[in-house]
Amino acid sequence: MARRAIRVFFKSKSLFKMNSRRIFLSALGLTAAAAAVGWKFMSSLPKTQRMPVLFIGHGSPMNAILPNIWADVWRDVGRRVPAPQAILAISAHWITQGGVLVTAAEHPTMTYDMGGFPPELYRIQYPAPGNPSLAGDIQGLLRPTIPVHGDSAWGFDHGTWVVLKHMFPKAEIPVIQLSIDYSRPPAFHYDLAKQLRPLRDRGVLIVASGNIVHNLPAMVRSDDSPFDWAIDFDQRMEQAIMNGNHQPVIDFQKLGNLARIAHPTHDHFLPLLYALGVQDKGEAISSICDGFQYKSVSMRSLHVG
Ligand code: ZN
Repeated sequence: MARRAIRVFFKSKSLFKMNSRRIFLSALGLTAAAAAVGWKFMSSLPKTQRMPVLFIGHGSPMNAILPNIWADVWRDVGRRVPAPQAILAISAHWITQGGVLVTAAEHPTMTYDMGGFPPELYRIQYPAPGNPSLAGDIQGLLRPTIPVHGDSAWGFDHGTWVVLKHMFPKAEIPVIQLSIDYSRPPAFHYDLAKQLRPLRDRGVLIVASGNIVHNLPAMVRSDDSPFDWAIDFDQRMEQAIMNGNHQPVIDFQKLGNLARIAHPTHDHFLPLLYALGVQDKGEAISSICDGFQYKSVSMRSLHVG
């Protein structure tokens, strides 16, 4: 619900060096070996029952501090899911181009990626630890498909902390964030997510945080009754998702003007494709909540598993 943060990291000097290193590793045929190391790391996390996956409509950053029904729902979800060994957050607010980054710090910082909110919002802390070994696992899982690097500069952004602050208030569970490569088409994200599936058997709760409808210019702060077009897009997506028919969701841009008004930029839609991509064929999916904030932001949230 705030300005989108875009980092074009292959233009950054230090990250360009990292990219060069990756190319070098590829030339030596070590990319597959690195992925295998990822598997070794995986075994360091005890095997668990298959974890559910959450898609959370996060809405306004103010949901972190104002009493509201969404925060109540998130607290309830946190009490109901099996206790995670770690959390992988995929937030609409960490956007990269040309590859992805994974938070790799032992103690990630906070990222206040929004403007114009009360000072208390910029004092919020979510001091969950990171997990560098798990960050390595995730890099290993994704490396065969996309340039991926560990990152210590980006902390938890508000797509993550607004939700987790309520869902897991003790901030004891390690949290990793994965960026989203905005230069890739929607189908790429859906397919990439499948490579994250093994994490579900290692106690990792995947929390994808975005909004199924997200039009900031159209938003009316004093009114939560949705626009007709917002209801239309939201319900089309809901029907396809509940029918296990992911193709219309992946192809949402084929809806033309309706898709463009629901998502003037589609950064907040992409996390949904990760939540659906890690869903097994025929696996249950259910609604956590639905509704709208500010007329143009869908708060629909989903539970896979
Ligand atoms: Zn947002």
